[in-house]
Amino acid sequence: MTLLMTLIFIVGFVALALFEAKLIFWGLAALAYAALVLALNGALSLNFVAILAFIPGAVFLLLSVPMIRRLVLTNHIYKAVKSILPRVSRTEQEALDAGTVGWDAELFSGRPRWNKLLDIEKPHLTEEEQAFLDGPTEEACKMIDDWDTRHNRADMPEEVWQFLKDNGFLGMLISKDHGGLGFSAQAQSMIVSKIAGRSIAAGITVMVPNSLGPGELLEKYGTKEQQDKYLERLATGKEVPCFALTAPHAGSDAAGMRDVGVVCEGMHEGKKVLGVKLNWEKRYITLGPVATLLGLAFNLYDPENRLGKGTNVGITLALIPTDHEGVNIGRRHYPARSAFMNGPNSGKDVFIPLDWIIGGTEYCGQGWRMLMECLSTGRAISLPAIGTVSIKQALRVTSAYARIRRQFGISIGMMEGVAEPIARLVKSAYMFEGARATTAAMVDEGQKPSVISALLKYRTTDAMRERINDAMDVHGGRAVCDGPSNYLFSGYQATPVAITVEGANILTRTLITFAQGALRAHPFLYKEISAAQNDNVAEGQKAFDKAFAGHTGFMLRNILASFLHSLTFGRFASSPRNGPTKIYYQRLHRYAQNFALVGDWVVAFLGGDLKRKQRISGRMADILSDLYLMSTTLKRWEDDGAIADDLPIVQAIAEDRFAAIEHSFDQVFNNFPNPALRVLMRFLVFPLGRRAKGSSDRENYRLAKAMLRHSEQRDRLTRDIFVSFDPNDRTGILEDTLQKVEEAEEIEKRFIRALKKGEIARRLDRDAIDDAVEKGILNDNEAGILRAADEATDKVIQVDDFSSDELSADRGNRKNVAAE
Ligand SMILES: Cc1cc2nc3c(=O)[nH]c(=O)nc-3n(C[C@H](O)[C@H](O)[C@H](O)COP(=O)(O)OP(=O)(O)OC[C@H]3O[C@@H](n4cnc5c(N)ncnc54)[C@H](O)[C@@H]3O)c2cc1C
Repeated sequence: MTLLMTLIFIVGFVALALFEAKLIFWGLAALAYAALVLALNGALSLNFVAILAFIPGAVFLLLSVPMIRRLVLTNHIYKAVKSILPRVSRTEQEALDAGTVGWDAELFSGRPRWNKLLDIEKPHLTEEEQAFLDGPTEEACKMIDDWDTRHNRADMPEEVWQFLKDNGFLGMLISKDHGGLGFSAQAQSMIVSKIAGRSIAAGITVMVPNSLGPGELLEKYGTKEQQDKYLERLATGKEVPCFALTAPHAGSDAAGMRDVGVVCEGMHEGKKVLGVKLNWEKRYITLGPVATLLGLAFNLYDPENRLGKGTNVGITLALIPTDHEGVNIGRRHYPARSAFMNGPNSGKDVFIPLDWIIGGTEYCGQGWRMLMECLSTGRAISLPAIGTVSIKQALRVTSAYARIRRQFGISIGMMEGVAEPIARLVKSAYMFEGARATTAAMVDEGQKPSVISALLKYRTTDAMRERINDAMDVHGGRAVCDGPSNYLFSGYQATPVAITVEGANILTRTLITFAQGALRAHPFLYKEISAAQNDNVAEGQKAFDKAFAGHTGFMLRNILASFLHSLTFGRFASSPRNGPTKIYYQRLHRYAQNFALVGDWVVAFLGGDLKRKQRISGRMADILSDLYLMSTTLKRWEDDGAIADDLPIVQAIAEDRFAAIEHSFDQVFNNFPNPALRVLMRFLVFPLGRRAKGSSDRENYRLAKAMLRHSEQRDRLTRDIFVSFDPNDRTGILEDTLQKVEEAEEIEKRFIRALKKGEIARRLDRDAIDDAVEKGILNDNEAGILRAADEATDKVIQVDDFSSDELSADRGNRKNVAAE
């Protein structure tokens, strides 16, 4: 009987943990159990089990009274936390506070509410936006000649610049009221994507004015006068903006800049006015060399406190016309030998009036907060767009080339070794497009996803680098030799740019994603830390106690739920669907639960050391981002209408992501500094060992093979990129040739059969086709189709060559550009 009751109570305790029950219920349950044991075994037989249940029951009951709990427990923990917690600086706090949390918080909770993901509106464009994508954007893509841009002039031709300005490309985020296009995040992302797929330089040129910079800052914080003065001019390209934050001594640590403004009186337009005297030196500033309007970040000091904000006002942002006296701008860097405009600028004792400060004096000292707020949305749109399109473009050209290019008598794409990187391209194209589109849709719903934007930035740009390498490998020498017909090399060359800007990836992965995620998206941590930072101790203790009680329940649930879901491989975890994706939702839930457990312990144990233990936090960031990418993959499948043909791609992605997640957990456990927790975490997460194996060779081969012809699936995977069938276009020739090769497929098979039988003496070439016609193996029409395919193939596989003079003239050109 005692055994049966014990079992019933164990189930009860599990339920209490899973529902994160309050302490009082734990206490009552434990006391009830103790009483039952006593009753069953005779009231006087005080046995060991009853004592074991009674003591924690009594303790839990006492601790469930907040006043007692604070006195005996949480006030002491509060004191200890307060004494070890480093004071969060203002810039750190502002960076932390920026943006919102959404689906990331669901993943951190370990119990994702699927409707929070699936209710995000399916990505879509308005009619006007679609027309812009199909009209001016397509037109711009046709105008762009990437080789000419990066090689001959190291700039876009004037007519392309003008086209972009005249059609409002530089003012997509500026509202219609202010003369801009007022496009959604989705539209901006897709337009930037399409152009960047054609030329990275052109893509960056369009991206920058629509990302963190004067346009966005003025829209959000500008005074009415500033908005009236500049926004319409920015929207129509009459002003070209740039934004200067980075300085030689302030890269990743941008808030540590030495650029200084001092409040003082000075002469402006013939009058003595109160203003700011500036000294700065900036570098790496995109569009800087051609900008007419410089957005500048600097540290503002007010020695006489004339603004009433103290002497050290803080980071402040101003807008300065680049022809203003003392501004030194125009020289260029040459980042990754790419043709977009980028360069240094500086100013010495430049005086500006106070009304050039963005938002006016009210916003003096608010610059860092303003930047961080804008970054959380801008970073969600711009580089994920460039990263994703690069992958889609790489898949489109590589799949065509792998079919067209033959070695050893067959298309190279049919060889397993080549199919492997093509399959990676397929999976990445599907997965990152899903993440890009869903994240842009979140922004359109008003979210400012700071953690998601960070993880998406580093994952898309890292994937872009890996997949372009895959594409290069499949192309062999064809991609290595640069020239007008090379459609891969400039993307390959430019990958470090995407990796570095908007927060270099190492920092974003190892410092920002998990640490900021843990603080912002964890259900209790931020509340505990805020309470510990509270200068009012009584208030702080009360708030800390409340959060701590919740945190304890959260921990207990994590321990039990993590163990149970791992033991059953997620079979009893939640899923919003019953179809073929059900198991993937369930497994995702299981790993999210594991992540909640391990994340919580990593933060609790490492605390402030998290900044130093970056390999651990980097792996936790990888797990969080894999959970995110898998979620958005499932959402994409739903949004696309659950297309059966795409299910194998979703399944292969799921197998890979789950294997990656298990690998990352394994690495965290292997390297966790505390041996006891190391063993315990491994036991709770992998009670039956690691099981995820990744997608199989067979599945991957099928994915790759399906790409070697024109199909709806191939179009879907490469949707919204610029596709040309013009044989005179550098990528159009691939599509045209692929079509011809497909048309010739059956005829070629017949030709090869004849070759094998010895009816034709030589491998496919012009004379062999004539020979086949003479022998009646092919008729004239068939020979024509085969010849057309062969001739087109010949063009596709050719690479450019140059005379030595041409190459030395090329070096001369570059010297001239640098000297100008
Ligand atoms: C082509 C290009 C265009 C740009 N455009 C602009 C622009 O328009 N406006 C603007 O203001 N800036 C711009 N930037 C600057 C860009 O934001 C910085 O380059 C970036 O912030 C990194 O700074 P850094 O290059 O000085 O690298 P560093 O700060 O020197 O970092 C070097 C390496 O150390 C890593 N690192 C640094 N600190 C940490 C840490 N605490 N933990 C872990 N790793 C760390 C970084 O991740 C990086 O990998 C541009 C840069 C480039 C290259």
